[in-house]
Amino acid sequence: MTNIHGIAASSGIAIAKAYQLVTPDLTYTAETVDNPESEIKRLEDALEISKQELEKIKAHTLKELGEEHAEIFSAHLLVLGDPELINPIKDKIKNEKLSAEAALDEVAKMFIEMFESMDNEYMRERAADIRDVTKRVLAHLLGVSFPNPALIDEEAIVIAGDLTPSDTAQLNRQFVKGFATDIGGRTSHSAIMARSLEIPAVVGTKEVTKTISQGDIVIIDGIDGNVIVNPTEEQIKEYEAKSESFKKQQALWAELKDEPTFTSDGEQVELVANIGTPEDVTGVINNGGEGVGLYRTEFLYMGKSDLPSEDEQYEAYKSVLEQMGDKPVVVRTLDVGGDKELPYLDLPKELNPFLGYRAIRFCLENEHVFRPQLRALLRASVYGNLKIMFPMIATLEEFRKAKAILLEEKDNLKNEGHDVSDNIEVGIMVEIPSTAVIAKQFAKEVDFFSIGTNDLIQYTMAADRMNEQVSYLYQPYHPAILNLINNVIEAAHSEGKWTGMCGEMAGDPIAIPILLGLGLDEFSMSATSILPARTQLKGISRKEMASYKDKLLTMSTAEEVVAFIKEKTE
Ligand code: PEP
Ligand code: MG
Repeated sequence: MTNIHGIAASSGIAIAKAYQLVTPDLTYTAETVDNPESEIKRLEDALEISKQELEKIKAHTLKELGEEHAEIFSAHLLVLGDPELINPIKDKIKNEKLSAEAALDEVAKMFIEMFESMDNEYMRERAADIRDVTKRVLAHLLGVSFPNPALIDEEAIVIAGDLTPSDTAQLNRQFVKGFATDIGGRTSHSAIMARSLEIPAVVGTKEVTKTISQGDIVIIDGIDGNVIVNPTEEQIKEYEAKSESFKKQQALWAELKDEPTFTSDGEQVELVANIGTPEDVTGVINNGGEGVGLYRTEFLYMGKSDLPSEDEQYEAYKSVLEQMGDKPVVVRTLDVGGDKELPYLDLPKELNPFLGYRAIRFCLENEHVFRPQLRALLRASVYGNLKIMFPMIATLEEFRKAKAILLEEKDNLKNEGHDVSDNIEVGIMVEIPSTAVIAKQFAKEVDFFSIGTNDLIQYTMAADRMNEQVSYLYQPYHPAILNLINNVIEAAHSEGKWTGMCGEMAGDPIAIPILLGLGLDEFSMSATSILPARTQLKGISRKEMASYKDKLLTMSTAEEVVAFIKEKTE
């Protein structure tokens, strides 16, 4: 039995066998062979298994994420069956007596180089397809398994170095009971996805991939951030009991599902959810969400080989708006970059991607990407209560430019005969300190603010949100952060506007009383945090919390803030 401690990223308890999601070692020794016929047979077998796998992955992706996402695997299947690729490999085995591994590798490299050097984006994407497919076939030739999250077909705990957002999107919700990773923090996107999928997760353990082997029995304790490897009988019983009591607690929370949110002194606050896909709306409704405070649209752009079309986006936005009825839905425009890469955009590698060419910076320079998204949103606006929000705004000029493009597209659509709502609020994420500092100037021009503390904290403290080495600096309760938040809320209120928060801090039980006291209007969090937050808010008074405001804002350390809040709320 081994105990590993990490960061509790998504609550709940899960017990199952480990599934290692690690790219296998694909090195081989190049040798010549005596029997080319049997080598060709080995190649054909590896191609056949790869084909079966890809068909399974494609079917799963089609079911879970829709046709556009499944397209990438159709492209892989085409590569796998393409005689122009396969015949030269067979010829090499026959004529040069190369092993199947070496022949495959040499021919694939030749095609990859050829496609990569072409001046055509479509062709360059084919190079990526060949690279992916070759790795899978090579793995089968070498007798090592090539893991794929969509292929998991028995109950499992996924163990990985990190999970990219698109890996996480492919996890089979039916069988993946939980996951643990080496890197990442509570606000890394794998953690955020785990909460929307409602599966227990522990991240930032530094060592799960080293310590855990395929098939080990693993307990994930997403409540306290522990991973127990090969537990004793006694531990299994202990965690089964913990899981039962967590479920009982959830049943108690569920009693408040259809209630509005009131504090003990009768103040109403709005509890809404963060989502990544239209499928997440079910979780929002089941968890009593009063709206969507952040729809991260970038997931529509991931796991694909090309940009989503205007119509495809329109269908996704319309579906979310229709499902939410008259409840507010805040949709954020594309926030690509940072840890959210889109390989088909072929963006240059950057030294500091979180400080680089991303989100609104990218969209304003790439109107062929930005405009279709705005058009899709505007067309969908008639199906519900839409609010549009721009990410990573650092200057007023950026906001003005983005809004001008939005208004231009609104006119265009009207001229084309489309219906567009005239009641769409347009706001910004406040996640860059410059914007928080001059929130007063922004408040005159925007309809609302939504504070993105995940980034605001990393930029204010200069501490990468993904890096567990500096996670001690990732301090939501630091007085510097509280002062910035207070500045934003006061600025909004002085102009009669509202402020929400969609960073993970909004669902944090220690932060909630503080934010209530600072006057936050809307709290947007993972759907599973809504009912615990509603329960907590019933027991605290806004008036009392507001009376601590000046004291909290002038404290010197996060530690002091936490000690004070704990004392006042216990
Ligand atoms: C944030 O930065 O707080 C936020 C909500 O956006 P994301 O986590 O997608 O960067
Ligand atoms: Mg952000």
